[in-house]
Amino acid sequence: MTLTASKQSPRVAVAGGGLMGRLLAWRLALRGLDITLFEAGSLERPGGACWTAAGMISPLSELVHSERSVYELGLRSLVLWREWSGCLQLLCGSPVGFRQAGSVLVAHGRDRSELLHFQRELQAKLDAGELGQVRAVAATELYELEPALAGFEQGLFLAPEGDIDNRRLLPVLLEVLRRLRVSLREECPVACEPFTIFEGDRRQEFELVVDCRGLGARDRVPGLRGVRGEVLVVETAEVQLRRPVRLLHPRYQLYAVPRENGQTVIGATEIESEDMSPTSLRSCMELSSALYSLNPAFAEARILETRVNCRPATMDNLPVVEGEPGLVSVNGLYRHGYLLAPALAERVEQLAMRQVQLLA
Ligand SMILES: Cc1cc2nc3c(=O)[nH]c(=O)nc-3n(C[C@H](O)[C@H](O)[C@H](O)COP(=O)(O)OP(=O)(O)OC[C@H]3O[C@@H](n4cnc5c(N)ncnc54)[C@H](O)[C@@H]3O)c2cc1C
Repeated sequence: MTLTASKQSPRVAVAGGGLMGRLLAWRLALRGLDITLFEAGSLERPGGACWTAAGMISPLSELVHSERSVYELGLRSLVLWREWSGCLQLLCGSPVGFRQAGSVLVAHGRDRSELLHFQRELQAKLDAGELGQVRAVAATELYELEPALAGFEQGLFLAPEGDIDNRRLLPVLLEVLRRLRVSLREECPVACEPFTIFEGDRRQEFELVVDCRGLGARDRVPGLRGVRGEVLVVETAEVQLRRPVRLLHPRYQLYAVPRENGQTVIGATEIESEDMSPTSLRSCMELSSALYSLNPAFAEARILETRVNCRPATMDNLPVVEGEPGLVSVNGLYRHGYLLAPALAERVEQLAMRQVQLLA
């Protein structure tokens, strides 16, 4: 059932029309709230990290370098993405490109210790009942999973992992917001205070403000920083992966995420800098040579796009969800936006509903 806001519905402002803002605007509009979404840039072509990302949903791969809470939220997100991607497709008629076909990790023979090390680190962070999610695979099984990785003798298969095509999802969310009659304000940078949105000198009152401005929320989130990331998008008919693949390497890590029409998203650099200038030659060379080493047939792939953006990160690289009367904020999704957004949206939805019910 689709709900639309009535005249008496509580008025909620969502600041930031990136991944988190769109998801929350959708979830809260479904609850019958009267939503206004404020976005500093364009909604058709967002300037935030969400548009640049590769869209991997990798709770296990990310666990090695992050907290267990990220893993647990990631598992919850996978359940929600499965459910919500179906709902969004029903509402809008277009698929959002969610896939849960697992992911494969490989290392070249000389870097075999990287794979072993990764496996041990990951298993050390899992409970006994969770170890079955990590499967070491030898050449034959690896070939069955990913024929394009024929040159590798062993790998790891992480069956629960998934990915989502952000360049499909974000326009679908926008269309759904239009259908739910969410009021959309683009090219409209705002500041947030409890119960209040400031559009320049103009002050607007709401029953609740939800702050999802990513890096734009520095005025309210102490220590928020940007972490530069670069990805390439290549196209070839010569080689097609079936699922996200990670290459472990002592100096850098590459992932390759297959998309439609022979396209592959390759990423990502991670540089402690807020520089948003175009992709460097070094990053381009490292990413493309690592891709070439996965399968030499990538040599003739055409580079369609280079993308750069900064991930919004807190000092401990963990997300923050905070609520005070009249204001809820969610930020610091770092390199885990697609991994965490649905599970965090679920929490924020509860916080927001509690606040508007208290006011009723
Ligand atoms: C190279 C790269 C690869 C990535 N790959 C992955 C991946 O594979 N998997 C994964 O889970 N995550 C990935 N991420 C991380 C993910 O993109 C982010 O965590 C996610 O986009 C954060 O979502 P957000 O909505 O908080 O912020 P954003 O997506 O940055 O959105 C914030 C929005 O707020 C708007 N805004 C800013 N200031 C204002 C203002 N004053 N008023 C109104 N609007 C404002 C911005 O224009 C923007 O649209 C990647 C990121 C990068 C850069």
